[in-house]
Amino acid sequence: MLEVIDTHAHLDALENLEPALTKAREAGVVAIVAVGSNHQTNQKVIGIGDSHPGLIHPALGLHPWELGNLDSNGINLTLKFIEEKISQTVAVGEIGLDYDKRVLKIAPKELQKETLKCLLALARQYNKPISIHSRYAWKDTFELVKEAGIEKAVFHWFTGFSGVLKDILEAGYIISATPAAEYHEEHRRAIKETPPDKLLLETDCPVTYGRENKYRSQPADIIRSLKAAAALKGIDESTMAQQTTDNAIKFFRLD
Ligand SMILES: [Zn+2]
Repeated sequence: MLEVIDTHAHLDALENLEPALTKAREAGVVAIVAVGSNHQTNQKVIGIGDSHPGLIHPALGLHPWELGNLDSNGINLTLKFIEEKISQTVAVGEIGLDYDKRVLKIAPKELQKETLKCLLALARQYNKPISIHSRYAWKDTFELVKEAGIEKAVFHWFTGFSGVLKDILEAGYIISATPAAEYHEEHRRAIKETPPDKLLLETDCPVTYGRENKYRSQPADIIRSLKAAAALKGIDESTMAQQTTDNAIKFFRLD
């Protein structure tokens, strides 16, 4: 049986978590990294991790989309909680930059960068890997991560330019593949250009995927990420599962 790890899932946002976890186990999911986006979801992620030891591994973060809802007190409270709970986490995430114009309207670049720098400093201080969002901000995100002296970073659902991808891989960082690997051209190109030992699988659930047939994802959909990535790399699914699972165990220091 295949063993796969969903390395980036918003489990707090699933309506029916337990049935989704049962389905995931049946599909071969042996571990899930549950990422938080703000103070409230970070608290939930810790709770979900506590009630599923061995299966669910928390990561705490502050997503750039959340910054429009926060003043500096809100940001500080979130950072403080992440630091308090950091020994219970496998990573800092989801964090990053997003230069989509709808996001910039509520969270200007400078605010995003300043916040990210604080989060990166935490990750660096406690020697944690990071799970990073970089939509339309690939170069700035990479540069901040590198400048912060981060040792391990996964650029999740990477869709950026080949030049930045090259820098990411040369710096020892990695990327992860979502179910969008079935159809999204930029994401498919990034996966093709990444060696299998620098690749993780994820769902980013409950994101809605699909072009004609849209569906709301859950961790069991990691099999779509696996199949699509294996096809793109021209290797069989079991080899891809083994490789990406080994990568994830090493990256997040899962035991
Ligand atoms: Zn996410």
